[in-house]
Amino acid sequence: MSFSHLGLSEKVLAAVAATGYKTPTPIQDQAIPHVLARRDVLGIAQTGTGKTAAFVLPMLTMLEKGRARARMPRTLILEPTRELAAQVEENFARYGANHKLNVALLIGGVSFDDQDMKLTRGVDVLIATPGRLLDHFERGRLLLTGVELLVIDEADRMLDMGFIPDIERICKLVPFTRQTLFFTATMPAEIRRITEQFLHNPVRVEVARPATTLATTTQLLARSGRDAFDKRETLRRLIRSAEGLKNAIIFCNRKRDVATLHRSLLRHRFSVQALHGDMDQPARMAALEQFRKGEVTLLVASDVAARGLDIPDVSHIYNFDVPLHPDDYVHRIGRTGRAGRSGTAITIVAGANDVKAVTAIEKLIGRTIPYMEPPAGMAATEEQAAAPSARERQPERTHRRHADSSRRMKRPAASVSRIDEARLRRVAQPAHARADDGDASHLPAFLLRPVTVKA
Ligand code: AMP
Repeated sequence: MSFSHLGLSEKVLAAVAATGYKTPTPIQDQAIPHVLARRDVLGIAQTGTGKTAAFVLPMLTMLEKGRARARMPRTLILEPTRELAAQVEENFARYGANHKLNVALLIGGVSFDDQDMKLTRGVDVLIATPGRLLDHFERGRLLLTGVELLVIDEADRMLDMGFIPDIERICKLVPFTRQTLFFTATMPAEIRRITEQFLHNPVRVEVARPATTLATTTQLLARSGRDAFDKRETLRRLIRSAEGLKNAIIFCNRKRDVATLHRSLLRHRFSVQALHGDMDQPARMAALEQFRKGEVTLLVASDVAARGLDIPDVSHIYNFDVPLHPDDYVHRIGRTGRAGRSGTAITIVAGANDVKAVTAIEKLIGRTIPYMEPPAGMAATEEQAAAPSARERQPERTHRRHADSSRRMKRPAASVSRIDEARLRRVAQPAHARADDGDASHLPAFLLRPVTVKA
């Protein structure tokens, strides 16, 4: 089946052909004709299914007729994160190469004035995160009464991020007669309620999770001690002993831990960037771009920051923390094993709560994830899993430093590297990377010796 039977315009078909896509994905095949027939669509699909093009392509076709008026966008796309919004904008640039449409991005961290200028000129497609959109609206710089089509993308992620009240407000600000396209990967009760309230007789299009991800990804569990120091050491050993590691995303559950782990990996001279919600927009974009281009090998990320990112070729995923929601596990490992390539996803399991969370994941994916053979030198770490944690043993910060550094010194040479170590390392270590928060790898050994203070 080709794209030509879907009802898309010649210009859009030419742009699709230029990208090299031959056949529509199932969500494109099923949704595009309904979008063009002006029906509301409820798309249950996750990232990686081609859902962005499923709304961008018909929107481009429909926008060929008519023109934009100042401050009154014709269509509105809501995205939970700035990166996703930027990604959708890229899709418009790619598929809309033959169109002269004004596309504007309203996201946090970017100057209000530039965005305002664009709105004044009139926009055909407005792509926004809910908060920034409402900011502009409240300043009276934006009218939503001209919106003919509203896209709500990644709705379940909007729910996780607390955006549902904003979404409800926006739905009430756009005309009742608009067309709505609503995409979500899962259907929790709150999302069902929203769809019942704001979609009119929608066509439901549901596509399965891309089976390829699960089929082509080797999934493994790695035991670790519970303490954060033990987990970081386990991670380093896993990365150093990984076979065929080209690049990897390392997931943490909390953004605070993303920052800590990023600093620690920098100190250990890995080539690494971080992606979390507290970074400003230019820093997030720059980090992502560096990772995409292969300028850094590792990316430490939180679920929210990484959700939906289109990074086609990731060889390894490490779950530094077992995700709290089993669905997040599927999203995380969906970053690897794409397009038939093989990938590896390793989850660090530290303690009884993690074991429980893994059981829930196994129930969702319908298979057991085996424990891997510990890489060389990891036996010590496994012993720690059974023993009291380093924190319990060494309540004082200076003592923990010592404990960690002595473990590092005990590491046998064999554990160091089966992959190109140089690629993992930074060429030059920036000054801030040398700031210590607990590992003390750069301190002279005499400073690490315990001090006896005489009474
Ligand atoms: P998405 O689910 O929208 O994030 O898309 C995932 C990836 O699939 C993106 O890299 C798209 O460029 C790609 N893609 C979208 N549609 C097609 C298609 N029909 N054939 C091949 N790749 C596609």
